[in-house]
Order: sequence, then structure tokens, then C-alpha cells
Amino acid sequence: MLPVEFLDMMQQQLGQQAPLLFRALEDEPVVSIRLNDKIDELSFDADADEVPWHYDGYYLSERPMFTLDPLFHAGCYYVQEASSMLIQLALEQYVPEQSVVLDLCAAPGGKATLISQYLGQDGLLVANEVVRQRVFVLSENIQKWGNGNTVVTHNSPALFADALPNMFDCILVDAPCSGEGMFRKDEQAVADWSMRTVRTCVERQRSILSDVWDALKPGGIIIYSTCTFNRHEDEENAMWIAEELGADILPLRLDPAWGVTESLAGYHCYPHLVRGEGFYLCVLRKHRADYTPMKLRVPRKPAGTPIAPDTLETVRSWLHHPDDWALRQADRFITAYPMQYKELIDYMATKFLCISTGFGLAEERGKFFAPQHSLSMSKALRQEAFPALELNLENALAFLRTEALPMTNMPLGLLMVTYHGIPLGFVKNVGARCNNLYPNEWRIRKL
Ligand code: SAM
Repeated sequence: MLPVEFLDMMQQQLGQQAPLLFRALEDEPVVSIRLNDKIDELSFDADADEVPWHYDGYYLSERPMFTLDPLFHAGCYYVQEASSMLIQLALEQYVPEQSVVLDLCAAPGGKATLISQYLGQDGLLVANEVVRQRVFVLSENIQKWGNGNTVVTHNSPALFADALPNMFDCILVDAPCSGEGMFRKDEQAVADWSMRTVRTCVERQRSILSDVWDALKPGGIIIYSTCTFNRHEDEENAMWIAEELGADILPLRLDPAWGVTESLAGYHCYPHLVRGEGFYLCVLRKHRADYTPMKLRVPRKPAGTPIAPDTLETVRSWLHHPDDWALRQADRFITAYPMQYKELIDYMATKFLCISTGFGLAEERGKFFAPQHSLSMSKALRQEAFPALELNLENALAFLRTEALPMTNMPLGLLMVTYHGIPLGFVKNVGARCNNLYPNEWRIRKL
């Protein structure tokens, strides 16, 4: 049962359309995925219509057991609801690929993986999550996506304004909200909803926006989005950004056939009109002004341990374009991150709690360095650097459950295991069996 105050509010907001929305909220949620460019085509048999506003987005006619698909664990696609893929249009229309973007409220990483894909190797994404329990799943999803162009941080919004003033070309604030757009997916969202929650959300959203505001360059783009319908958290906040913080609301070019509703400020996806869940977004440009770009003060002696020359030679041989990556060793771990943004990332490492920068390349094990799991997920991996053991479905799932694999007549030592040619991780072939090196915390716990 939907809350009465919600029904009254939407009746006022939508008039004759309101009953259509209420009916749509009783329907089954739409299932959609967005493909990673790690794979060329979809592996599902299900009838898969394209999401019209994202060339990698597909609707599925039913919800498969994603856990049973090894390619899901290899980051070949992200299960993302279609409406939120509209972020792609805001990027295409206003944010060049060579940009530094902050996704401030990023977990679990649907929009962060989309932005990471959009920026490719030209841009840098900082994906932040302030809630501790959620930041590790964000980092896992970013590593599985495999672009290496992302720094995952766990900090409060105000630190970005303090430590990186005028730094970002674009900031996405996909704000915590009252979640009306999730009503048909999540019963708890209905149970938690009240007008009081809406008011609390408005206050929190404004405080997040004002805390981070100084980190956005003058002339930079802010994308404000929620998965709720009410105008208090949506239009009124977008207009508050424009008037109080100083920005212009920008139009988006959309095909009318998609059913997206343009409002006073920004755009709504209502599930009775759009094939997707509830979503709102507004794109704004911060007023232009003169400013002095910040000078990054990076310590002359970089943190970490110097990498021994023979180790360096080995780990660089695992990469396609080793010169594109700066390498840093801290403790037993060597990390690779984009050379183009080395200074900024080195600076961030001194000021922010960075959960991951780029991708984990190698880890000291006894006298040698072994590859880290995230190398197997990375698009920078030179696959030929490791002998590959192709697994069938049964063994691939056993590998993902961190079970030992049966004996193989492959060479002894480190092997990369693949499924349909896509890397899943590493095993160590000790002759009688293959020891499993899949990260324990990512393993499939139950089938
Ligand atoms: N962008 C994510 C995605 O596409 O997968 C979804 C983000 S969700 C709508 C909002 C996020 O904001 C949550 O991960 C939540 O933990 C985080 N959050 C909650 N309170 C916050 C605060 N005060 N400041 C910043 N982020 C907050």
C-alpha cells in the first residue's frame, strides 16, 4: 500500500496522470543491463531490446540468476536500471572526455562505471562514498569494470572543496533521497517514506551540494539526480542550486518517443511513460568567473618503497601500454594509475582516504611478485603474459566459490583462468591441483 500523503502529493503534482503512475508502481520492475566494452555482445538468450539512450544498454525480458553467470563476476556488464543511464546524455552533451569528474555519492557504482566507460583513458573519475559499509562494494565494482581511470575515495563532501578547490570539470551528485522511484523494487522504500523523510532529504541534499560546491570549476557542470519524484527534492533543489549557489540550468536533447518528461527545471522519468524506474536529473553550469587553478603540492619524495628494477621489468611486461601507467609500491603492493593524472592522484593520496587508485598490479609473495586479482579484471592486462586455462561453466563457478580446481596438464605455476576467453582471475598450478587465488571477500557464498 502506497502512503496516503504520497498519493495526495503526486495527485497534485501530476493531476490526471497520477493514477497511471500509481498503476505503474504496481507492475514488475524492468530489468536492464549495461555492457562493458570488455565483451562484444550479450551472452543472454533472453529477448534483449536496446535501451534507446545508451548504446550499451539492454532490456531483459526476465531476470536471470546473475550469480550463475561467470561473466557477471568478470565485470562484463552491470545490472543497471535503464532510466539512470540517461546520465550518458548529460555527459555526451556537456562534458568532454578529457575531464576530471567527481561522482560524489557513488556506491554501489552504477553511474560511476558508466562515467568511467565514457571517459575512457582520456579522463579521470573520482568515485567517492561517505558510508563505510558501501565503499568496498563500490571499489569492487570499479575494479571489475577494469578501466583503471578511477580513484575510489571514502571522504565527506566538504573535504573536496577544502583540498581540491576549482578542480573538477564535472560533479555528479546522485543524492541520497526518499526513494519514491524505488517503490516497486523495494518494499522497505515504501515503509521508510514519510513527508518528514522528504524534508530531511531536502536538507541533507542542500548541505551535500553546498559542501562540495567550491570543488567545481567556474563554468563546470553539475549533474544533480535523484530516484524520487517529488518536486521538493527535485525541481526545488535544482532551482535552489541555480539561485543560491549560482548556476544556469541546461537543456538536454532527448527524443520525445522515449517518454521523458521535461519539467520547470530538469527531467523526470515516470515509469508509466518511460521503460525504466523513477529517476530525475537536472544539468547545470556553474557561473563562469576568473579563478587561479590550484597548485598541487606533492611531496618531493614520493610516499612508498622504490620498486626494484627486475620487479619493474616483470610487472611492466604484464601491461599493454606500460608507459601509460605510473607505478607505486606501498608495503607489499604495487599499484598502477594513469600517468596523465599522476600529480593529482599523488596529491589525493596525501589528503584523502583512497580505497583504490587505478588498479592493483602486483603483490609480494615470498621472494617474488605475483599479479593481484584486479590485474585480471583490468583492460590494461596483456593477456598473453600468462598461460591461460579456459574453464567450463561448472569449473568457472567452482573457481568463483574459491574451490581448488582439478589437475590440469598446463605448465606449473601461475595460470590465468578464463571463461569464454574473458579473464576471471588466477590460480597456481601445483601439479596435483590448482590453488585458487580468487579474492575470498568476493567469492560466491551460496548458489
Ligand atoms: N550513484 C550510485 C549508483 O549509481 O550506484 C547510487 C547512489 S545512492 C542514490 C546515494 C548514495 O549517497 C548512497 O551510497 C549513500 O550512502 C550516499 N550518502 C548518504 N548520505 C550521504 C551524505 N551525507 N553525503 C554524501 N553521500 C551520502
